[in-house]
Amino acid sequence: MLTEAEPTERDENRLSAAIESIEEQPRLDHDPAVMILRVRDLQADARRLGRPDLHHRAQLIMADMRGRQGDLAAAGRIVHDVHAWAVERRHAHLLALSHWHLASLFAQLGDATSQLQHAVGAMESVNAMPAPSVMLRLRCTMALADAYGDSGDFASARERYAESERLAVEVDDIRAHTTILNNLAYTEHQAGDLTAATRAADRMLTLAHRHEVRLDDSTLDTVAKVWLAAGRHTEAIDLIRHTRIDRTGPDEDANSVASCLVTLAEAYRLVGELDQAHMALQRCRVLCTERGLAGVELEVLREYAQLLATQRRFEEAFLAHQDFHAAAMRLHSGQRDARARVLQAVYEIDEARQARRRAQEMAMRDSLTGLYNRRFVEAELPVLLHRAAEKNTALSLAVLDLDFFKRINDTCSHGAGDRVLQKVADLISARAQILDGAFGARLGGEEFLFVMPGIDGAEAVAQMSRLRQAIREHDWRPVTGSLPVTTSIGVTSTRHGHGTATDLLHQADLFLYQSKANGRDRITSADDQPADPSR
Ligand code: GH3
Ligand code: MG
Ligand code: MG
Repeated sequence: MLTEAEPTERDENRLSAAIESIEEQPRLDHDPAVMILRVRDLQADARRLGRPDLHHRAQLIMADMRGRQGDLAAAGRIVHDVHAWAVERRHAHLLALSHWHLASLFAQLGDATSQLQHAVGAMESVNAMPAPSVMLRLRCTMALADAYGDSGDFASARERYAESERLAVEVDDIRAHTTILNNLAYTEHQAGDLTAATRAADRMLTLAHRHEVRLDDSTLDTVAKVWLAAGRHTEAIDLIRHTRIDRTGPDEDANSVASCLVTLAEAYRLVGELDQAHMALQRCRVLCTERGLAGVELEVLREYAQLLATQRRFEEAFLAHQDFHAAAMRLHSGQRDARARVLQAVYEIDEARQARRRAQEMAMRDSLTGLYNRRFVEAELPVLLHRAAEKNTALSLAVLDLDFFKRINDTCSHGAGDRVLQKVADLISARAQILDGAFGARLGGEEFLFVMPGIDGAEAVAQMSRLRQAIREHDWRPVTGSLPVTTSIGVTSTRHGHGTATDLLHQADLFLYQSKANGRDRITSADDQPADPSR
């Protein structure tokens, strides 16, 4: 009934659009407590509509909010669960999103290697999507740029920042564009290129000014730090004065305000206004104590020691420096504990998942040869065909059947027959290993399948003829005495993932039958067929 089906589809589109609009807003725009309630509603809708993918996308928003509330372990657990779901179903969109969230999580934990791994994964998944939104591509490109920067590969970072800028211009997203320039400035600062850092910071300020975008305090703090490093002390002071350092109500981002105050103190020290520097530090210290900002408190102590040293109050400077060291030790061990807790939360579920995957693997394997079984083939072939169609690549497969195998069983023994099957399986696996993504399977009895993603018909025939030779040339005498072991093979291929798995297997079987009929120990493929004038 059309009238009933239509609203459902419209509901799904509406839900999907609602989730996307939250995903594509800057994460800091949301109030976590409010958003968590909203996400629960969206998830109820997703369940009612039977859309686990939308449910999982809402879960990722939930993870974000839990992280913002300070529970990184909960965030990590959620993101990993969604990621596992996406991996199992090869769901490109959710893979892109979950990789992106993991990259951001590892960035917060200071693990640049895992951050980069997931940023690359996110980008690859976006590239595997048929029509990713520009916004999603933009987010993933930015994450990749940040990850390269954090792992010290500045050349790759610059390339990705340039690409991000191009995308931000394409969607006319000024805020994203200012964030990119901010992160670029930070990265150039890290790379030690102050000219490039200053250029990026200035471009950001011009852009924000032209479009009347209010930059947040942490962004202005980055600019001020770049300027300080470049010797533009007075400009840095002016800039910080324009932040919200005077308004520290409960809604302000206290951490950014505190960080701005330390930068201000440093700037005053550098221009010799030492009283002002002391005042800024004193205010910052109060704020840190009130809000428990251990990270910034450390910077306060360091700057305080510097300031006292500048005033030649060396004894006090020495004591302040000792305070700084003690605080640094406390903070770092606290951070290590927190990080360990998050990683453990993530790791435990990984363990459970690996055990489950091992069990699932076993059900997909043939016990005699260790090759995949028919059940695996039935699940995997449609996926591979779908991917070949999406990426417009070739997929070839070969069905292999041992010749006169019954004779080996009858003449030697069933055990000898088993050993032949195991050795043939080894030869198949060895060949599969040298081809990217290829694998072998035992379809039953003495019949095998060899699957070759990304390989066209001619190359598949070449590969299979090497396999056929390896089988016939193996020294079988210890197992079968004077009986040879040979195979007959049928090879079939699809260029753009056309056809079904059943069609392909059926066609390969027909070619195999022809190999048998024509004398065995040979290969037959579409190339051996009389030319079809219609093609
Ligand atoms: P053809 O060249 O026409 O393929 O002849 P063939 O003898 O290989 O084919 P046929 O289908 O007549 O015989 C296959 C034999 O494989 C029959 C069966 O007993 C044997 N077989 C099936 N599974 C196993 C197994 O797990 N171990 C052993 N040793 N033999 C098996
Ligand atoms: Mg046979
Ligand atoms: Mg057979």
